[in-house]
Amino acid sequence: MSSPKCRECGKEISEDLRNCPHCDTPVNPNIPKYPTFGGSGWVMTVIGVLFITLIVGLLINMFVYQD
Ligand SMILES: [Zn+2]
Repeated sequence: MSSPKCRECGKEISEDLRNCPHCDTPVNPNIPKYPTFGGSGWVMTVIGVLFITLIVGLLINMFVYQD
């Protein structure tokens, strides 16, 4: 076990911490603070396109089946 040192200020920090308590630099950049959709942005795009298609389809249906 080696205690890592902050790559910014050089002080020893705990691996458990996500940010250096001294300068708030992320300790391990491989651990994202929040879940990211990196690399799967196309999934969101596909979902967005499908969602828009659904909304447009519903609107068209509303107009077609009016009266
Ligand atoms: Zn630091």
